[in-house]
Amino acid sequence: MTTDELRIAVQPLGQGIWRCAAPNNMCSCVIFAGERAVLVADSMVTPSLARQVKTAVQQLANKPVRYLFNTHGDSDHILGNQEFWPESVLLSHRLTRERLLTEGDGAVQMAKASRPNLAPELDQVRVVAPEVAFEGTLELDLGGMLVECIHMGPAHTSGDVAVWIPNRRVVFAADLIFNRVFPVTRNADVRGWLRALDRLDELQPEVVAVGHGDVGGPELIGQMRELLTTVRDGTLDALSRGLSLEEALQEIRFPAYEGLPRAEERIPQAIQRIYKNEGMRIE
Ligand SMILES: [Zn+2]
Repeated sequence: MTTDELRIAVQPLGQGIWRCAAPNNMCSCVIFAGERAVLVADSMVTPSLARQVKTAVQQLANKPVRYLFNTHGDSDHILGNQEFWPESVLLSHRLTRERLLTEGDGAVQMAKASRPNLAPELDQVRVVAPEVAFEGTLELDLGGMLVECIHMGPAHTSGDVAVWIPNRRVVFAADLIFNRVFPVTRNADVRGWLRALDRLDELQPEVVAVGHGDVGGPELIGQMRELLTTVRDGTLDALSRGLSLEEALQEIRFPAYEGLPRAEERIPQAIQRIYKNEGMRIE
């Protein structure tokens, strides 16, 4: 599928809140429209998808996007930033801003490698880093809708933020939760990720939107915890038995998760990541 053929699907999640998703769980974002201002959380993987989101905002909320928020720094959440800037204020956690400033256009190369069909459009992309950064929690009053951006990292990445709307009980967990898709753990801290899931639980959300996979309820938090716990425990068991990484990659099986999309490449990635993070603690 070329970029011209990709179309976003728009799904309402409550008053003033819509989720936009590209096909095949490729990327998604959430529009939050208050009485005074609109915030879009994440900018999709290409400028053309970001333009579709802007058109949706125009049709649904009839207001410009005042704030564009990046939940974290992975390419599929930030490569549409240039379509929002400089009209919108770009925001993220400090660690995400620093990552984008340091990596620069590395995110473009990463996206091209994993999605070669998007390469012609991605060649036109320049990474625009967020211009306002925060630590802890950032509150934004959009008018009748308070948005709490809560730092949850280190988890999927160091700068992960969940976007929480207390008076709607809607949370955009971004890539803290993958629903029926095996998660990316390239930059993960699995222990921190499990703590982040506990904090998501404490919010007691009713609607949980995620970066990859369908929107659901609070049960998605438990499902994600079960997957990460299974993968962590299986890998730690191999480590404690003295298996080398190569032996672990050969031997460890997670039958419950092998059928998920992307599992073939991402299960080995997860084993490798846990070996790297935990290997040193055990020795
Ligand atoms: Zn993602």
